[in-house]
Amino acid sequence: MKDQLEQIRSRALAELADDAAEAAIENVRVRVLGRSGELTEIMRRMREVPPEERPAIGQLVNQIKAELEARIEVLQGRLREAALERELAAARLDVTLPGAHLPRGRLHPVTQTIEEMLHIFRAMGFEIAATRDVEDDFHNFAALNFPPDHPAREMQDTFFIGGGLLLRTHTSNGQIRVMEARRPPLAVVCPGNCYRRDELSVRASPMFSQIEGFMVDRAGKITMAHLKGVLTEFLRAFFGAGTAVRFRASFFPFTEPSAEVDISCLLCAGKGCRVCKQSGWTEILGSGMIHPNVFRAVGYDPAEFQGFAFGLGVERTALLKLGVEDMRLFFENDLRFLNQFQATVERLA
Ligand SMILES: [Zn+2]
Repeated sequence: MKDQLEQIRSRALAELADDAAEAAIENVRVRVLGRSGELTEIMRRMREVPPEERPAIGQLVNQIKAELEARIEVLQGRLREAALERELAAARLDVTLPGAHLPRGRLHPVTQTIEEMLHIFRAMGFEIAATRDVEDDFHNFAALNFPPDHPAREMQDTFFIGGGLLLRTHTSNGQIRVMEARRPPLAVVCPGNCYRRDELSVRASPMFSQIEGFMVDRAGKITMAHLKGVLTEFLRAFFGAGTAVRFRASFFPFTEPSAEVDISCLLCAGKGCRVCKQSGWTEILGSGMIHPNVFRAVGYDPAEFQGFAFGLGVERTALLKLGVEDMRLFFENDLRFLNQFQATVERLA
């Protein structure tokens, strides 16, 4: 039986040569080590072996089994490595090939305009606050000193969405939200979308962007002079150092006194042309000293605090700055239009 075992061993090892194929290795494994393989058969016939020889035979069987298993493991490992090598060689990566060109996108001109404006205000010490598009009557109208029958409420043609809620008609709700939550000193700008029931046209859109800004501190610390200084500085930074700025008395429910702000016409530089209707001026934003009733609505004592506020339409301002004649172009997403506007300000993440 010992001879028989040696034969099994030498035959198997001969078959498990260095160049043995995968199928040949598997054959040997099943024939010799398998459940009904040659070694199992030997163990079954152990009864025929004289008892004193059994331990030696058993030992030999285990030894051959271990030897063959180790040999198979080595050969299979080599085959796996060779297969991997072949695979890598076939899928060889050529790092010198040019990369695939991905066209680079750019920011929408309205987004660029907002970022440029915020960049200027940030440099002047304003912080930026995002407030909500869906608002209630109090924050969009009542707290801003619009009485229930105020004609401006009608004029603004609001989208009411039920449950006492509406889509904000201006970003002035940002003033109320921020002042309710905090105490002065405050210097804040609130950019965002606004909604009015206008048809999309050359000059109007039912959805548009505004930037609301305000500065509030103890009474006497923030005056109309600061309002003029901040807005003049902003308009010259945005439109160019030579831009002339003028303030005209006006009326808004939420400011007193109120001023509309004009800049010298960008097309004719103040000489008078068709676009500015020969006046030499273009209206650019509304502003004023915050009305005492607005302070009362947010729980500030108007005798204790004072400040100014302003709001400007982003698309209307972008039309002027970029020399675009039709508001609808901003909303059509025609790439031939959009691709004309390179980034004007670096993104400040
Ligand atoms: Zn002009």
